Amino acid sequence: MKRIQKGNVPKSFDVAVCINLLLVTSQEDISRMPWVQSRPRVKLTIKLVSSLVSLPYPGINAGSTSGLIVFKYTESRKAIARCGYDYYSDRQQGRNYDIEVVKRGLWSHKAYSSSSILEIYLSVAGAACFQGSIIEWCKDHRRHHRYVDTDQDPYSINKGFWHAHMGWLLWKQTSKRNEVDVSDLQSNPIAAWQDRNFSTIAILAGLVFPTIVAGIFWGDWKGGLVYAGILRIFFFQQATFCVNSLAHWLGSQPFDDTHSPRDHIFTALVTFGEGYHNFHHEFPFDYRNGIKWHQYDPSKWMIFTWEKLGLASQLKRFSSIAIKKGEFKQKQKQLEILRTTIDWGTPISQLPQFTPDEFSVAIRNGEKFLVIEGVVYDVQSFIDAHPGGTKAINSCVGKNATRAFNGGIYFHSNAARNLLDDFRIGTLVSDVPENRFKEDEKAVEIS
Ligand SMILES: [Zn+2]
Ligand SMILES: [Zn+2]
Repeated sequence: MKRIQKGNVPKSFDVAVCINLLLVTSQEDISRMPWVQSRPRVKLTIKLVSSLVSLPYPGINAGSTSGLIVFKYTESRKAIARCGYDYYSDRQQGRNYDIEVVKRGLWSHKAYSSSSILEIYLSVAGAACFQGSIIEWCKDHRRHHRYVDTDQDPYSINKGFWHAHMGWLLWKQTSKRNEVDVSDLQSNPIAAWQDRNFSTIAILAGLVFPTIVAGIFWGDWKGGLVYAGILRIFFFQQATFCVNSLAHWLGSQPFDDTHSPRDHIFTALVTFGEGYHNFHHEFPFDYRNGIKWHQYDPSKWMIFTWEKLGLASQLKRFSSIAIKKGEFKQKQKQLEILRTTIDWGTPISQLPQFTPDEFSVAIRNGEKFLVIEGVVYDVQSFIDAHPGGTKAINSCVGKNATRAFNGGIYFHSNAARNLLDDFRIGTLVSDVPENRFKEDEKAVEIS
């Protein structure tokens, strides 16, 4: 078999990748074009072909495509480097407009305000990722936030991982969708302009521009189109889709577990910082995603840098008190769940009662009972295992050992107190008689 070497990748493979990716990435946009809308057969064909083409991607094509990148990496490294720039821009667009969902509700501010120059740049660079116009993207995303995990959630994880990832794009949603208000975006001149000219901007910024840059500056026209154009679109779309699938499926829920969003470092790495989705759903207008210093969130750092450069302002954060309250309540909830899984022994209120005389009779009959804080414990099975030795515990048998237990002999730890739960058999109906306290003193002396 001929060994594939750098620069020796079969041409047919490149072509196949191009066609596949174009179909996968742009079928939704093509389907929305007026001339396609009026031709149901064409629309159906595009849907069918793109569905068939995209299905094997996770298993077959992704592997070969990454192999292709490795082989040609050195030739097109500069073109690939451009991918990162475009991707960040795309996520900023999302972050910038995403939080508008809250702006219309309780608060009157966005996560941050950006200058017009930055907004134009983001709207163009965002279009280059072929993920729908700002208005279309936000319509779905607002619906997702408002109706998360329900039938109205366009990418509900409850319909399965694949549906949340890409299936929602490829198959028609059957349930009737509630309208979502995007009038604020429709009245935003930049968002409206991007929506009107989406296909043109997307093709120019996402495919033509990287081809020209890579071609003019280092003569790699094809690399510009395939790597910085088509493959970048494909991989970063997959990364974005992971926010809808992986971020609702993998990880912890430190702020609330009522809904599905989760936090995980792996998702953060795969999605370039969108992995702290539990936080994002709980505190959506916060410009941050990962709030701890070590959490990987380049979008946050980027917005912060823009603020320093005067391109963004009024960065919004939820108060640290509100965030701590959320974290505390969730921890409390988890502790309560843990509490119910532990055997705490028979509740003291349900234990049988011993009179002082009954207690004395039991001791005379050879029982190894002792009393701590009014509760009777049968320590027979524990005497040999007592870490402080048999002498110390035997000296307390038949007596009130409260003081001995709480520091008289040794101040017992939580573990010892928890262990006692296994030995409690009753309560004393009245305090231990006076003479028993005297004997208790004797026990203390033994130590
Ligand atoms: Zn969001
Ligand atoms: Zn989500």
